[in-house]
Amino acid sequence: RLVLGIETSCDDTGAAVMDETGKILGESLHSQKEVHLRTGGIIPTVAQQLHRENIERVVQEALERSHVAPSWLSAVATTVKPGLGLSLGIGLDFSRRFVRQHNKPFIPIHHMEAHALTVRMHLPVPFPFLVLLVSGGHSLLAVARGVDDFLLLGHSLDEAPGDTMDKVARRLSLIKHPQCSTLSGGQALELLAKDGDRSRFPFRTPMGQTYDCCFSFAGLRNQVNMAIMKKEAEEGIEQGTLLSCVKDIAAATQHTVACHLAKRTHRAIVFCKENGMLPSSNPILVLSGGVASNEYIRKTLSNITETTGLHLLCPPAKFCTDNGVMIAWNGVERLREGKGILPPNVDVCYEPKALLGVDMSAEVR
Ligand code: ATP
Ligand code: FE
Repeated sequence: RLVLGIETSCDDTGAAVMDETGKILGESLHSQKEVHLRTGGIIPTVAQQLHRENIERVVQEALERSHVAPSWLSAVATTVKPGLGLSLGIGLDFSRRFVRQHNKPFIPIHHMEAHALTVRMHLPVPFPFLVLLVSGGHSLLAVARGVDDFLLLGHSLDEAPGDTMDKVARRLSLIKHPQCSTLSGGQALELLAKDGDRSRFPFRTPMGQTYDCCFSFAGLRNQVNMAIMKKEAEEGIEQGTLLSCVKDIAAATQHTVACHLAKRTHRAIVFCKENGMLPSSNPILVLSGGVASNEYIRKTLSNITETTGLHLLCPPAKFCTDNGVMIAWNGVERLREGKGILPPNVDVCYEPKALLGVDMSAEVR
């Protein structure tokens, strides 16, 4: 059985064809990163237009590379939420037409569930496991209990860590830095942080007074902005000019993000253990999402899992960010279990019942 996966939730147009074992037969990805880097952020209408221009070709390419005709597919899996409405709409409209034309079942996919389950593509990770998803639009902790069964323990109360790092990088004008001109904000901060001295900017770790599994990054961004403004005044330079201490600020920002994630994850592990929510033998923490490709953050989290007896697993960096493969894989998992598969002619405005973030939060204190 073959599944076509389609992803257009944000700024990547992705498609992939996968067989039932999780083997990728062919894939294609068009990234809008360069365009959005130039405009200093994603303009939804621009993202929508680029998805519109590329979706047909990307899907065609994935099918051609896999030597699969549409009629051989068992189902089409497409991200339906969460994401930018305008971007999601392009993938959804395309998929609706495609499944009707070829008379194929449709599998609506939750983007964050797909991030959470990607790890099972390469490794036999049994349910339940703890998952920390950190990306440009989200940070959340959940217990994955089944293909369509997630218990949300906590989420960001304001912005996501990737967004914060992107905004800090933009405020520092890192696009003008010779080593960073083509990198995302998070990548740029990670690179510069390697030679930075984080102790020069002792930012406070967010939410030190609360003891739950929620996150907050807006306050950190504020702290960083204040520090940048102070330095600009000291050095007598205009906003938009590279500061001499960018590496130190990058190191301190990255460190504080890592500490916050680690503290919340530690709380989640304790909570899960106290409530018998993870297996006693070989409990697992899965770390995924774009920010999970950050080595420093991975290392900080591995310190937490080592001390609490969990095993840390991350999908390969390529599969931590958005692509059609993870959507196809989620489709394969659902097809295997017969969960959430809709007929071709359904007028999808599908609200699956057990998705991440839907009235299922555990009260973690
Ligand atoms: P979501 O999955 O929540 O919808 P998204 O799809 O925009 O958001 P991803 O593609 O998963 O997010 O990840 C992109 C984010 O990851 C960007 O904010 C980027 O700065 C961040 N990122 C990428 N590489 C790194 C890195 N090495 N260190 C830190 N952040 C990184
Ligand atoms: Fe994503």
